Amino acid sequence: MWTNTWGFSLLGTIGHGKSDAAATGKAADHKVIEYPKPDGVLSFDRLTNVSFSFTNHEESQPAHLKLADPSIPVKVNLPVYGGPSARYCPAGVYEFIGEGADTKFQVNFQNCVHCKTCDIKDPSQNITWTTPQGGDGPNYPNM
Ligand code: SF4
Repeated sequence: MWTNTWGFSLLGTIGHGKSDAAATGKAADHKVIEYPKPDGVLSFDRLTNVSFSFTNHEESQPAHLKLADPSIPVKVNLPVYGGPSARYCPAGVYEFIGEGADTKFQVNFQNCVHCKTCDIKDPSQNITWTTPQGGDGPNYPNM
């Protein structure tokens, strides 16, 4: 950010000629990456890290993450793209629960830290981030 002035970047930019959503690869074209589990000393699980953001959304408010078609995550994104929202969301908002025909897509909007990755990266462009009610969201002290 500090190296960008008047539309010019000292470090240059890397373009890939399409949107981030369109650049999402199909799961069949990639190997599964097995990440090491957090050790609880230097690395921590996502929900522990989310707790540092002090994010809060009143549970009774309408979800601020809108799915244009609620069936797409399970019908398209999971079989074709491996359900990327369950990995790219830094706050663990999106979960696929169950297996096979019983798979459900759950949106834990209360955990959202407002990064808007899902709005940009969802390969089906099915998720829209909207402003939550009452200024709810992450509260980063001392920033
Ligand atoms: S805005 Fe960021 S934190 Fe919130 S649901 Fe989307 S990816 Fe997750």
